[in-house]
This record gives sequence, C-alpha cells and structure tokens, in this order.
Amino acid sequence: MYLMPSGTGWIEVVTGCMFSGKTEELIRRLRRAQYAKQRVVVFKPMLDTRYSETHVVSHDDTQMESIVVQDPPDMVALSREFDVVGVDEAQFFDDALVEACEEMANLGKRVIVAGLDQDYRGRPFENMARLLAVAEYITKNLAICMVCGNPADRSQRIVKREARFLLGATDAYEARCRRCFVPEKPGDVQEALPLKK
Ligand code: ZN
Repeated sequence: MYLMPSGTGWIEVVTGCMFSGKTEELIRRLRRAQYAKQRVVVFKPMLDTRYSETHVVSHDDTQMESIVVQDPPDMVALSREFDVVGVDEAQFFDDALVEACEEMANLGKRVIVAGLDQDYRGRPFENMARLLAVAEYITKNLAICMVCGNPADRSQRIVKREARFLLGATDAYEARCRRCFVPEKPGDVQEALPLKK
C-alpha cells in the first residue's frame, strides 16, 4: 500500500487458506492503528466459538478483544464511533457481509476483513469472492504445503465430513499446494486421501 486514501474509507481483504497467517496479519494492522490512537473495533461471527468467546485469536496465540456479531448489519451500528473496523473469519458471515463492509467504508472507515477464500473443496466462499471484487486492497497470504513444502493456497480436509464448516477443528485440515490438494467431491467415499509425490 503506497498511497493511502484520505478523507474516505476503504476495504482491505486479507485472504488465503488455513495456516496462512490471516488473523496474525489482521491483528498486526489493527495494532498499528491502535498505536496511532485510532479507534479500533474487531468483530467476529457468532459461529466461531473456538479458543475464545470474546477475542480474535490467531493460531500463534496473538489475540485482541472482539465483539461477537450474528448479522453483518449489526457491525454497521456497532462501529459508529470507530475509525478502523476489523472483521475476522469473515467467510462465516452471510451475503449481507459485503453490503455491511461497503456501508462502513462509505461512512469513512478503514475496514479490514480476514477470511478464507476457498472451502475445503477448493470452491470460493461466495461472500468472500464478492468482497474481493469490491475491495480496494487485497492481500492473499500463502501457507506452506504440508506435503511438499511449496507455497500453498488450499485447505485440505484430512477427515471425512460433508459439512462446509468444521468449527474448531484445525487439526482436521492441512495447507496444500495446487499439486498436492485432493478435491473431495460431494458424496465421495474417501477413507484415506492419497498423497501425490
Ligand atoms: Zn504440495
């Protein structure tokens, strides 16, 4: 980011697969704003109850106090007195997320959103895809493929479950590169996922 806007809000999206450091990056940006005495608020979805009810927590245990929100429009109302708005695990919110972020940015706020871009089958999360289209700034973090060590942008589910979301189950996933990722199709019976070498 070389030219920061002034007199207007904007949307930043930090995306990528699991284990790519999205939440750490979100927290880093929010902390810098706090050092500058900007008024910062962090939201996370009601669904995400892992680790902490009231904190945004990254896998490396960095954390920030957050407000749990069920419906994205609530963020607009709750952020009225803040300059910078963070949203973590954004893929868990419904489609109203995009409108809420646009509204906050239109009100002059810096809106920083972290979330997965793809589900465990490699399909885009619809709300994240739409948000990426309207964001001013996009950062796609890569993880390290846990099979071959290449840069990775897919979340491989290593347990057999059909649900799109497995809450609090980070040990059910591995970061994988394009080559090592094995997409699971609906109804697939896969006892063990083959590893390409
Ligand atoms: Zn790989």
